[in-house]
Amino acid sequence: MRVKFWGVRGSIPAPSKHTVKYGGNTAAIEVRNNNDDLIIIDAGTGIRLLGYSLLKEAKEKKNIEAMFLISHTHWDHIQGIPFFVPLYIPNNNFEFVGPQGTKRTLEEIFELQMDHDYFPLNFSGLPSKTTFSQVLETTLKYKNFKIETKILNHGNLGGVLGYKIEADNQSIVYSSDHEGYEIFFETHSEKTINIIKKTEEKYHTFVNNADLLIHDAQYDEEDYKKKRGWGHSSFDYAINTALSSNVKLLSFIHYDPDYSDEKLDKIFEECNLKLKNENHNLKIIPAYEGLELNLDDYK
Ligand SMILES: [Zn+2]
Ligand SMILES: [Zn+2]
Repeated sequence: MRVKFWGVRGSIPAPSKHTVKYGGNTAAIEVRNNNDDLIIIDAGTGIRLLGYSLLKEAKEKKNIEAMFLISHTHWDHIQGIPFFVPLYIPNNNFEFVGPQGTKRTLEEIFELQMDHDYFPLNFSGLPSKTTFSQVLETTLKYKNFKIETKILNHGNLGGVLGYKIEADNQSIVYSSDHEGYEIFFETHSEKTINIIKKTEEKYHTFVNNADLLIHDAQYDEEDYKKKRGWGHSSFDYAINTALSSNVKLLSFIHYDPDYSDEKLDKIFEECNLKLKNENHNLKIIPAYEGLELNLDDYK
């Protein structure tokens, strides 16, 4: 499989001269299998430029078809939708998958986002073909992809899906807007803690042996201490998950909007030093806008 990152920032777009290297757009990832079938993970502001790239490609080929795997409907994961031009072209075909548990349906949320109070055009008036499904933990098929979903912990134990995508004998796990379960240890009885520990184990099983893990890493350890319970991971938690789950390649995503390129570079340097000192084989490739990975290169 091949992966291209179009948006890697968390919470809100953060363009500035301090975020040029890693980028300011919010979550958007293009995934291709060897057949060139297309999955788009999340619909943050990064999908605007992805849309133009797809249009260029479609000129030579055919209509654009893709499955969107939406982790959840917080702004930073859906705000690119009104600016994704392929939705404005008839015969393009998009299947949207998102988590169950929302107050409104996924389609209603997209419509509301483009209500006249917020946007001049309506979602329901867009001419492309769209379908919607909302799922819990299940297995899906899309063209030559197999997709497994997992409920994550984002401030509460639900409402966000992690996705494991398999094709070409490779697997990619996307786990963003997720915080480890140990946060619950402080406030629960021993019996409950055992259940929570099992939940963490199940999470590791989901991630197990991923060729590429794309993981939430919003905070450094210092900020994480101040923001426990906000539903995001630290860089250390992402690394520990990758190490416990025998992951080959780890890409951080969902960087805090206040983290500059300089700060991120320093964090990545420390992460790599830690792995080297502890003799781990795990390879870290921090995501940045425009990064392309071909998993065949990391066998
Ligand atoms: Zn987010
Ligand atoms: Zn969120």
